[in-house]
Order: sequence, then structure tokens, then C-alpha cells
Amino acid sequence: MRAIFVVLIILLAACGRQESTQEGAAPQEAPPFTASKTTLPDTDWSSHGLDWGEQRHSGLAQINVETVKDLGLAWSFDMYTQRGVEATPLMVNGTLYVTGSWSMVYALDAINGELKWFYDPEVDRAFLAKGCCDAVNRGVAYSDGKVLVATYDGRLVALNAETGKVIWDVQTTDRNKPYTITGAPRIAKNMVIIGNGGAELGVRGYVSAYDIETGEMVWRFYTVPGNPADGFESKAMDMAAKTWTGEWWKWGGGGTAWDSMVYDPELDLFYIGVGNGSPWNARVRSPEGGDNLFLASIVAVRPDTGEYVWHYQTTPRETWDYTATQHIILADLEIDGKPRKVLMQAPKNGFFYVLDRATGELLSAEIYGVVNWATHVDMETGRPVETANARVFDGKNISLPSNAGAHNWPPMSYNPDTGLVYIPTLVMPVAFLQPIEDQDSKPGGGRWNVGFDRIANVPPPVPNFDEILEGVVSGQLIAWDPVNGEPRWASEPGRPDGGGVLSTAGGIIFQGGKGGRLVSYNAADGDELWSADVQTAVMAPPITYAINGQQYIAIAAGFGGGFAAEGGTVAHAWKVRNRSRVLVYKLGGKHQLPAVVPDTRVMPEPEPVTASSEVVQRGTVVYHRQCEYCHGAGLRTGGVNPDLRWSPAATHDIWQDIVLGGILEARGMVSFSEYVSEEDAEAIRQYVLAEANRLYQREHAEPGGG
Ligand code: CA
Repeated sequence: MRAIFVVLIILLAACGRQESTQEGAAPQEAPPFTASKTTLPDTDWSSHGLDWGEQRHSGLAQINVETVKDLGLAWSFDMYTQRGVEATPLMVNGTLYVTGSWSMVYALDAINGELKWFYDPEVDRAFLAKGCCDAVNRGVAYSDGKVLVATYDGRLVALNAETGKVIWDVQTTDRNKPYTITGAPRIAKNMVIIGNGGAELGVRGYVSAYDIETGEMVWRFYTVPGNPADGFESKAMDMAAKTWTGEWWKWGGGGTAWDSMVYDPELDLFYIGVGNGSPWNARVRSPEGGDNLFLASIVAVRPDTGEYVWHYQTTPRETWDYTATQHIILADLEIDGKPRKVLMQAPKNGFFYVLDRATGELLSAEIYGVVNWATHVDMETGRPVETANARVFDGKNISLPSNAGAHNWPPMSYNPDTGLVYIPTLVMPVAFLQPIEDQDSKPGGGRWNVGFDRIANVPPPVPNFDEILEGVVSGQLIAWDPVNGEPRWASEPGRPDGGGVLSTAGGIIFQGGKGGRLVSYNAADGDELWSADVQTAVMAPPITYAINGQQYIAIAAGFGGGFAAEGGTVAHAWKVRNRSRVLVYKLGGKHQLPAVVPDTRVMPEPEPVTASSEVVQRGTVVYHRQCEYCHGAGLRTGGVNPDLRWSPAATHDIWQDIVLGGILEARGMVSFSEYVSEEDAEAIRQYVLAEANRLYQREHAEPGGG
């Protein structure tokens, strides 16, 4: 593998903004393939993972291996913002509830797409710099006439499902710290439960449960210990603290539970997927060693009290951003001839875990991704056996999976008929470098600081960079047999642009990807059966529902998130603008998307570089420390945030006012005056000019390059 440099994250992209225009709803036409109501009852999708096990497998089969060829668009709806979309829509009683960027909620008629109501929580845009990965949202929860949404600025809000009116609104985080929320709340009994994010910026993770009726907090479970001097909140924190060393609390410690959580009514347990350390670098975080519980763990707690029951740590002494926040699926499997109640997860670290969910006992752990940090998991101890180079962080040694993971947040699905778990996987090498400058190993900044020097991942300044990437980063959909611990089939490896997965009793699965398409595969063998152009990249998982004898497939399309913010290197080459849009399909659907308007923008001619090469080099270093996670490695943005190489002269004129003065805070570009000197801000500008000139000359020498 030609991975000499690296690329932190993923997927495909899009550039620029577009005016939002709402599609007119398609007229209802007589559905040609309608089954009778008796054979196809109205079927909602009322919770995040569909059923309590979050299997994302629907019993609907009107759209199936035979009929899927006749699937067509029923309607589409353009959201009002053009940042990332990661939402699982819910469909309850004829209304589709879907979230866009900035935690906005759209309630749409599920048959024709007409807007019923819209809720904007008016998130302070300055919070953009408090998050790692764009102002995304993965969806709402529904309970008894209430729609519950968690907002990017850390609130949990209950809305009237009929009207969108606010019933209650509580702050679940300290607004002065870099906490954000992107996850979907989960319902357990009379409570709504939510975690948070921010482990890249220095926080301590926790999960909180609130009474659905009143919004009052019932319990809070911290995932990592705080300062011992303050006393521990629980026996679990007392136990966890024994696995930490140094002064981790000054960094926050991390362990943010920003995505997966599942309530198990059978066993009355609530499972939490816990994230990475804050900072990533374990040598900085906990210098004298230690496993650092409950980082990168699955933790089971009592839903009534939040009391700890069991845990399994996937990656002891996590240091690569190997979160265990990825999708958790509950199922009943027959293992070694015995029925077992299991929990399944394919976390970032590349191993597929099957646990007994009553006890946390490890039943199997097999490699599903491309992995070079460990050879296997010792079934006696339950611990991974690390390779000799696993923790060599010299800026040259390649780590696989990367911090993007072998699988990130796009949900899997499990089809009990095929017995397969369908996993969207990634291969994206990364190189880590021990901190060189003091500020990479200093806690409390509240800006992205992972305890590694990120200059290791500066892409080489070669014109064919995008082509080089083709052979280095990839993604594919893998159909995984969880009982035998091996893949049954896999899609052709391609760009790492696969979104979440839906599986149905029609013997098919749906996944967005393949350069802006929604694709249906045969669940048994992976044959591609159908696809449609959605005119943008897709990260979110599709859902399905039925109304009046008609089955629908719905997807919230759109690019952004961590994939765009950091993955600009990969995203950059795909020259399609992002559209944040809900698309709904049915058999015989005839609705057409508007034609794509070609991007005719022209890059302004940059002014010449006026600084020495040493200054440009200094700018390169400071840029990759402070700016890269939003504006992209090597200035190749994923399109959600501006490509600085395209900055007009007017922007260069007020450069210091933007970077240090914070005049664009209302758009999310906060002041960096605490982290960047005037001299360094100018050095960044000179680096931007150097790269802008290189791109400009190339574009003019070779149209379409970049
Ligand atoms: Ca992380």
C-alpha cells in the first residue's frame, strides 16, 4: 500500500451552497403494485433502529427482489440548510420526522412530502467550533405524542408531534465547555436518554436520563472518572479510576457516548457505546499506563437508576480514536448449539464482537476490517493481542484502521432470515506523531487537540494526489456471518462513500453511496438489483414504512459531518455540490428531481506569496494543528466549510480580523487568538496563498484538475 502520508477520514463530497427550493409534491397516482390492506397493514418506523434490538430489518416485502426494479421516486423535499445530514427519519401515523443540520426538525406528510411543521432550535453558530464533526444530527425519538430532539448546543427538547410546539427544553451540558450533541435520543420506560460528544476537544463523557413528561433529570452515568479529589459519583467510577494514571481529568478524559445506546426490555438493561479518550494519545492522557475504563467499552446499566451492571472494553488503553460508539444490535443467535441473547457491534477497531448481553461475556471477536494494530483477541482474557508496531507513533508508521475506523457511525442492519449483518466498512490509513509542540500536549484549550502532532497527515504537494488516494482509501459493504465470524459476501471495493444500511423481508438491502446513488442489493448474495441517482452523497441510513397498502423507502441524503470536515482529501475529488434532501420511493413512483445545475464558479486569481519558504512551512504546520479539522488536510475541504484556496482578495484583506478577531463567529468561525499569534495567522495565509497559486496554475494548465 502506498500510504506514505495520510488522510484522516472519509467519504465523498460536494462543494458550495445552494439556494434551498422546496419541491412541489408529486400528485398521488394510483399505485400499480398495491397489495391489499389486509396483506400490507400500515407500518410505522417509530424508533431509531426500528425495533428494540435496533436490527433495522423491516418485515415489509412489497418491494422485494422481484419488484424493486420498478421502484421510483414518490416525492422529495429540500432541507433549508446545506450542511451534513446523518438522520434516521421516523415515520409515525403518516408523518415523517427528520432532522437536518443545526438540529432542525422537519415534519413531513409521509405520502406526499408536504411540510406539516418545522422546528428550528436556533443553535448558536459559534458551537460549530466546539464540535469535531459538523453540526449534524442523527434523528429524533418519538414517544406518545412527543417528538424528542437533542440539539448541537447540548439541549434536549420535547415537541408536540402534531404541532411542533415546544413542551420542554433542558440543557444537558455545560455550555462553557466544548460539549455538543449529534446523536438521537433513546426511549427507555418513562425516560428519554441522551449522551454527548466533544472528546476531541477536551470533555468528560456521560449519559443522562430525563423524565419524558417533565424533562427532569432522573440519573446521569459518567463514562470516565473525574478528579479523585472531588470524590467519585459511584462505585463504578471508583473501580474505573484504578485504571487511570496521571492527571487525566485536566483533559476531560473523554469517553463521550455520542451515538449508540440500546434499551433491552427483555433483560431490563440499557447498553451504552462509549467513545475514545480525551486526548486520543494515551501517553499524554494517562502517562503511567492503565486500561482507562470505560473508554472504547460497551457498558450495561440499569435503566431505572443508571447503576452499572457490566462492561466489556474493546480497546484497552485506547489511543487511536477507536470508539465503541458504533451501532449496537441485539439479537437471539444459536451459538455452539445453544440459543444466546447477544449484543453485536463492529466498532472502529476492526473486530466484530458478539457478547452475551445478560453478562457481558465475550462469545467471539473476529477481524472484519483491515487491521494492523492487533492480531487477534485472546478468548481467555478477552483482550486484544497488539502487534509490535501498534503503538509506534513516529509519523511514518501506518495505523489501520485509522481514527475514522473500519466502520464508523453509519448503521449496520441484521436480517434474521439470512443471518447476516450488513456493515458499511472503510479502509483509511493514518499516521500518528507524538507531540512536538507544547500546545499538542496541553489540556484545557477547548479546541481540537488530540495529543498528537497532526502534521504527520499533511498530504504531499503532488498534482495527482487524488489519483494516489484511489488505491489507498476504500470502502465496501460486507455481509457478515456473526455465528461463524466470517464474511459471506462483499460489494466491490470503491470509494469510502457507503452510508447506513436498511434490510427488509423482501430479501433486499438498501444503502446510499456509489458516488451519489441509492442502491439495492440482493441480501443473499450482494447482486446489485436497482439504483437511483440522488444527486448528492449519502451518509444516513434508509428506512421503510407502509401507508394505505403502499410500501415506501425513505432516505435523508446529503454530505457533511466528519467525513467532509476532515475527509476533504477524499471528498475533494468528487465535484458535485451537496444537497440536503429527503427522498421517498415507492413502486411505480414517477417524480423527477430537478436537473443538476452545473457548477460554473471560477477560482479567483490569487495574489503572489510574499513570505519565505520557512514562513510558508510554519503556516503549513500551524494550519494542520488549528484549521485542518474543519478546512481539510492540504486545504482540500469536503465542501461543507470553505476551501480557503478560493478565498477572494477581500477575504485576504481582513484575514487577521477573521482568524484572530472572530468577526465571522456568527457563521461558526470563532476567534483563534488564544491559540494562534498574529505572525502565525499571517504564516497560515502565506501557506494558503502558496497552495492557491499551485492549484490556480494547475487548473489553468489542465482544466478539471485539482
Ligand atoms: Ca472521536
